Amino acid sequence: MKRIHTLLTLILLLMAVPLVQAASISLQPGFRQQNLAGVLAYLEDKDGTLALADLLQDDARFAWHISEQPILNFGFTDAVYWARFDVESPSTPQEQDLFLEISYPLLDDIRVYLLQDGTLLREFHVGASLPFAERLVRHGNFLIPLDVSPQPLQVVLRVQSQSSMQIPLLLWEKDAFVEHVYAESTGYGFFYGTILIIALYNLLVFLTARGVGFVYIFFYSVGVVMIEAGLRGAAFAFVWPEATTWTDRSILIGIMGCTLFGNLFVDQVLLVRQTWPRLARVLRTLALLSALNMVLTFLLPYKQMILLCLLLVAISSPTTLTALVLRSRQGYTPALYTLVGAMVFILSAFVMIFSKLGWLPRNPVTENLVYFGAVFQLLLFSLSLADRMNVDRQLREEAQLKAAASQKELLDVQLKINEDLDRRVRERTDELEAVNTKLQELSTTDSLTGLRNRRYFDDMLLNEYKRAFRDKLPLSVLLLDIDHFKSLNDNYGHPFGDLCLVEAAGLIRDCIKRPPDVAARYGGEEFVVLLPQTDREGAVQVAECLRAAFNVKRIEDGPHSVVMTISIGVSSTVPPDRDGHEKLLKRADELLYRAKQNGRNRVEWESDSA
Ligand code: GH3
Ligand code: MG
Ligand code: MG
Repeated sequence: MKRIHTLLTLILLLMAVPLVQAASISLQPGFRQQNLAGVLAYLEDKDGTLALADLLQDDARFAWHISEQPILNFGFTDAVYWARFDVESPSTPQEQDLFLEISYPLLDDIRVYLLQDGTLLREFHVGASLPFAERLVRHGNFLIPLDVSPQPLQVVLRVQSQSSMQIPLLLWEKDAFVEHVYAESTGYGFFYGTILIIALYNLLVFLTARGVGFVYIFFYSVGVVMIEAGLRGAAFAFVWPEATTWTDRSILIGIMGCTLFGNLFVDQVLLVRQTWPRLARVLRTLALLSALNMVLTFLLPYKQMILLCLLLVAISSPTTLTALVLRSRQGYTPALYTLVGAMVFILSAFVMIFSKLGWLPRNPVTENLVYFGAVFQLLLFSLSLADRMNVDRQLREEAQLKAAASQKELLDVQLKINEDLDRRVRERTDELEAVNTKLQELSTTDSLTGLRNRRYFDDMLLNEYKRAFRDKLPLSVLLLDIDHFKSLNDNYGHPFGDLCLVEAAGLIRDCIKRPPDVAARYGGEEFVVLLPQTDREGAVQVAECLRAAFNVKRIEDGPHSVVMTISIGVSSTVPPDRDGHEKLLKRADELLYRAKQNGRNRVEWESDSA
């Protein structure tokens, strides 16, 4: 059957009129490379039923077109596309080795027919659906070797693919291709190397410092590499050369990885969550949908998945950019860095797309700018993260300064309170002490005469007695009693009696001037005087002095006028024991009684007292 088919094809080929008056390339000496878009003719085979033989049989039925674009591009389609061109090398007698490069590695199924004078010379079958090892030339793109002589060679391609139907076709002189591969590989090496360093750096920082932003950048970088290595055929060539369905999937996963981790980065690292919570919720939802799409990649066909993914990118990109613009306008510099990085990448991607669409000239700059854009973007993401840490540190420092300042303020207030408290306590203590002293004085002072009272005297007697005992010094007590005071009271009235008591106290105070001496009102019209370090002789002198003072003092108040006399008992001792003070006082009382007995207005002392 197959043989018959081939035979038929050959017969038809022999019968055929030359294929369309299309697309002829005449190689000039020094030829190096040519883009075939704009030269070749193409044909849409809607239901994919045409065979090469059909095309050769009845040419007029088919409407061949010449492409104006720099790349044949028909988007996602179920149709099969045919393309053809002629090539000859009129000026060179010997054959020239050329490569036909189909530089879109995702095309699933490509058949290339080489014909000469309508005869099929050779047929190639390449495509992403075939294992890598089956390629004639093992390159990420599809390479068809062409031997071109002065006799025209007809090249016919049949292309079918799940991925977008773009058919970039380049004709290369072999040496020029080798040079091109060298330059291109060096460029890619630079690209992958830089991204690898960025990715590894972020991974290492994540492992040591645990900032979640670093791991997002790491995965974002992995996503970028997956997209690029997938689109360029490198992943298929070097990573999974047998797995013909993985490349499409890896690209989708790469794209979804970028939206997933890009959105998380913007949401969490650039703190959109804290300032625009609703927008942040949208970002997180988009991230979740991206993760879901990753899973779906394994379940749904590529054609549906790529639409879902592109839809998500179409929603996600403007949302993310909006978030970045809003955050940047708040003066948050990390967001500004990310925004600039993203914008540069997007612009560079547009430059590439526009050059493919023919809206921009195709040259090494417009075709490769996107790689620099991607690297620049990742660098700025890393910079953004570093800047965020910087901003965080500044905020922390400011907070620390504020905390320190308020702590100092608190301390000052506390100090002031303490000082106030101290001062108030001191004042209060002074006041209390003063009151206390006053009270003490009051409690030991006789209110009528201002002299010390009996309680005070008793304490002093005890103290002085002990001291005198210790020091072996004499101590004397004078007990005074105003004579006939009762009749004075009776005759002149109690108030005058009081006045007389006050005057008596004044007389006593005037006579008792030595500091250790103590004079006190002992009760009623009785007074007592304690004379430390004073022997009987001295004490009798003081007693006589007192008696004399009373004798010469006339007390007058209105119609009343009186001169008081006093009787005094003097007892003295150098204390023989520690607590004979009461005996000393009792003795003075007895002597006072004797003075009264002996006629009053006199001093009595005991001649034999120790
Ligand atoms: P003598 O001592 O000379 O024997 O006679 P006297 O009149 O002084 O005797 P007595 O000790 O009995 O009287 C003391 C009087 O002193 C009795 C009381 O009326 C009077 N007296 C006592 N305390 C006060 C006082 O605080 N004010 C006045 N005005 N009189 C007082
Ligand atoms: Mg008396
Ligand atoms: Mg008396």
